[in-house]
This record gives sequence, C-alpha cells and structure tokens, in this order.
Amino acid sequence: MAARILSGNPIREEIYKELREEIASLKSRNVTPGLATVLTGDNPASKVYVTSKIAACESLGIKSFNFTPDSSITEPQLLDLIQDLNERDDVDGILVQLPLPKQIDAKKVLEAVNPLKDVDGFHPLNMGHLVEGRPRLVACTPLGVMEILRRSNITIQGANAVVIGRSDIVGKPMSLLLLHADATVTICHSKTRDLPDVSRPADIVIAAMGRPACITSDYIRPGATVIDVGTNRITDPKEAERIFAGTPERLAKFREKGSGLVGDVHPEVANVAGALTPSPGGVGPLTIAMLMSNTVKAANLRRGAGSNLGTPQVMLQQSVNRR
Ligand code: NAP
Repeated sequence: MAARILSGNPIREEIYKELREEIASLKSRNVTPGLATVLTGDNPASKVYVTSKIAACESLGIKSFNFTPDSSITEPQLLDLIQDLNERDDVDGILVQLPLPKQIDAKKVLEAVNPLKDVDGFHPLNMGHLVEGRPRLVACTPLGVMEILRRSNITIQGANAVVIGRSDIVGKPMSLLLLHADATVTICHSKTRDLPDVSRPADIVIAAMGRPACITSDYIRPGATVIDVGTNRITDPKEAERIFAGTPERLAKFREKGSGLVGDVHPEVANVAGALTPSPGGVGPLTIAMLMSNTVKAANLRRGAGSNLGTPQVMLQQSVNRR
C-alpha cells in the first residue's frame, strides 16, 4: 500500500496561522518581533535561504534587518556586528547564515550570539538546556520534524526511533527531542555496522545523512513512518535514472532542468512505509516556519514570558499548543 504523504506546506500554513495570532497579541502590547539576518559573501544558495527567511518575516509581520557584510570581513568585525545586534532592543533573533568565509571561526561567532537571541538553537547553552530536558531555543529542522510527527498524529511515546545522522544541527538535537518525547532512540552514523538491520525494526526512521536516495526499502519495516530530512542536488543523469526509475515525471523534470533535488530516502520507500515526508516539500518548509516560531518565542523569552518552562513534555506540549 502507498504511504501517507506528510507534506510540509499545510503544516507550515497551520503554524503560520497560529503565529499570526500570537504576533498580533504581541503587537497589541507594543512588541513587534524582529529578526536580524547576517549574510556574508555571495554564496548563491545562502542568498536564496536568507531571501526566503526575509519573505517569511514579511508575510507574518516580523521585522527583519538584513546585514550583508563583504566576504573579506574579519572575525573581529563580525564579532562587533554580533555584539551590536545583541545589544539592540528591536532585535529578538539573530541568524548568522552558514557557511562563513574561511578566515572566520564559525563556532566563535555562533557562541558570541546572546543565547536568548539564538533562534537557530546552535549556542552550547541552548544545546545544554536541550540535553537537560529543559529546551529553550532549539534547532529549527529537528523542531520542524517534531511538528510534522505530532500534527500528523504519529505516536512517539514508546516508539522505536532510529535517527540516521549525528550532526550538531540535525541528528543530535533530533535524537534528544525524540528521547524527551519518550521514544526509544537509536542514533546511527557513518560507522554504524549493518545499518539496514538497525533501522528495519524501527517505528520511526529519521534520515539526515546528506546521501542521495541512500535509504531504500530494505531499511524500512512495512508501515513505518519515514522522515526524510535530506536535501541533495543531483546532476548525474545515471544517478537520476537509478533514483527516479519508478517516478517518470521526476525523471522528465530532471532531464528538462539538468539537475534535481532528492532526499536521503529513495522514492521506492513510498511503497513500503506507512507515512513518508517528500523531499523536497516535507521537512524544508517547516525549517523556516520554526525559525519564525523561535523568533516569536525569543521575543517572549527576553521579556520574561516563558523563561520558566517546566518539564520537557510540558514545554514541548506548550510549544505545540502555542503554535
Ligand atoms: P552533516 O553535518 O554532513 O551530517 C551527516 C551525518 O550523516 C553525519 O553524522 C554522518 O556520520 C552521517 N552519515 C553520512 N553518511 C552516512 C552513511 N552512509 N550511513 C550512515 N550515516 C551516514 O549533514 P547535516 O547538516 O546533518 O544534514 C543532513 C542532511 O539534511 C543534508 O542532506 C542536508 O542538506 C539536509 N538538511 C535539510 C534541512 C532542511 O531544512 N530540509 C536542514 C538541514 C539539513 P559521521 O558523523 O560518522 O560522519
């Protein structure tokens, strides 16, 4: 039977509707949430990401401040900019678009962001809060995955969840969020032996590896929920033929454009899984939605609301109810 497709766009719209109400309520108290984006250099992909983040701010009534220093900016200059943004009262969230130019230590810059304005959730203090089960500002992509699971009524409590990937921005926070939501979590990585045998018993598989269409049907138990975080651009026609053999419309689109986007999960998994996020169009839309949500949350946090958030379950539930 074909999997239920968990499309990200309707979930994003649901979240935006809730955020608009919350922003209106903040504005009635003379608070307009503000997001500062810092885009260094002229990486085309980074430009596209930042443009869509600014567009999302505009559509929701969040103020955005876009800083575009030249790629020759020095580390002290960038740290000065971050310090200015930390001190500005009209800036609730600071987003430093990665990658940064070679001469700059990205970790140092991310650690300079005030943790209360760290809407990407990358600061070690926010990561520590998450480890402790007192999440505050959490990385957007894993937070978006939780929204997809909850809003699609996928049972997390007691589920066997396998997270494939252990990066600081996706795999690790993802595993912690699932753990705090009472799943039994297995974390896999490039050195995991017999990966299909590890992932096959899982009720929920989260693929976040950056390997085009690597997760085939052998990795998935029939009926399992599969979340495809991967977004990979492919240009090799042979690879496209292998991946899109069963989806001729995607192959035709690839041939027309000479490139295509594909997740970490092979499209054939749609014939085995019980539920599956498409890629593109699944997790991606939620990542920006969660950035908006974190900005609104940061606006509240800095003004004292929501800083005493209780247990992770209460906090996660609050964040779901709040949105
Ligand atoms: P990353 O930093 O490159 O981490 C990849 C992880 O996957 C690593 O932990 C690596 O293991 C593991 N891995 C690589 N090959 C593997 C294999 N063959 N078997 C098992 N594990 C393997 O990537 P990331 O930043 O987490 O991103 C992962 C994917 O998600 C990428 O496709 C990225 O584009 C996508 N992404 C999408 C969004 C979105 O909004 N949709 C946001 C962020 C990322 P080791 O630790 O052993 O190297």
